Amino acid sequence: MEIRNSFWRGMTLEGQSILQYQLPGKLNDKMSVTLFLKGNLMKEANGCPERTTRILFGERHEKHLVAPLQKHKTAMIEGRSIWALPARPEADSVFLEKKGVYGSLRFADCIPVVVVSENPFDWCVLIHSGFIGTCSRIAANVLEKISKRTGREGIKLSHAWIGPGIGMCCYSRRADDPLALLGVREFPSECIRREGRLIFFNMPKAIVTLLYDMGVPLSNIHQTEICSSCNPGLCHSYRRGDSTERSFLLARIFPGCHNQHHWWEN
Ligand SMILES: [Zn+2]
Repeated sequence: MEIRNSFWRGMTLEGQSILQYQLPGKLNDKMSVTLFLKGNLMKEANGCPERTTRILFGERHEKHLVAPLQKHKTAMIEGRSIWALPARPEADSVFLEKKGVYGSLRFADCIPVVVVSENPFDWCVLIHSGFIGTCSRIAANVLEKISKRTGREGIKLSHAWIGPGIGMCCYSRRADDPLALLGVREFPSECIRREGRLIFFNMPKAIVTLLYDMGVPLSNIHQTEICSSCNPGLCHSYRRGDSTERSFLLARIFPGCHNQHHWWEN
């Protein structure tokens, strides 16, 4: 994997590919966001968050890791120890503000969205935006909830990362599929392309629009442009046959400045 720019750093370590999010300014020293893509560890974890936690942190470590049951809805939970494993609350978004709690979500084609800000305090939100979630405007819905805590200013000064997930090149639905009709109603018209009996949807671009409409500056929105279906060696893809294995998005706000980092963290 060769991704190295100001916004992303991709690498493969001992057979496990990871994508680190390069956060702006001091935020990189205050929090960490990593997406575990294909590799030995995710193969062994087989999409199970409990197993992933044991693999990453070891058997004996008691970690507070929030891993909600993802339902393609718009609920957001707070990254707090009461919601941590073994609890499995239903939600498609995790809001991190409290130090010492890890947040996580799992993906195979759906689009991982991460928004971070240091205004008016350090926060980070992880969002699972698949087709139905994007139709339900989960990214906007979540930022609306957060803005009640941070004010609009917190959103205006935030930065967002989108992907990797399935691109318009590979995401189509039959025109007579009721979900396709829902998409035609909910997606911006420039995010839809008709080709014979198929309708193609551009989820990443629709999410950019949602974030922008909520006040995230376009220059602060970063896309990987990696399609999970076009890159089966790197990304998990449900449409390419990954029925149980998942990519694992993991984030935390560091507890202090002299914190010990894990090998996957910045
Ligand atoms: Zn593709």
